[in-house]
Amino acid sequence: MIPCPRCGAQAPYAPENPWRPFCSERCRVIDLGNWASETYRVPVVPGPSDTPPDTEPGEK
Ligand SMILES: [Zn+2]
Repeated sequence: MIPCPRCGAQAPYAPENPWRPFCSERCRVIDLGNWASETYRVPVVPGPSDTPPDTEPGEK
């Protein structure tokens, strides 16, 4: 048994549990939905435009 990543309920981590590691289809859909939405929401992290490169030419 493992805790469901979504709700924390004990869920059987076994082939007979098609929603593992989640406890149910609901938790699985919700978790995957949140994961996808966050992925689409943060495509690029805006940072300072003057970020120095790792290798500066002429400095060696
Ligand atoms: Zn759950």
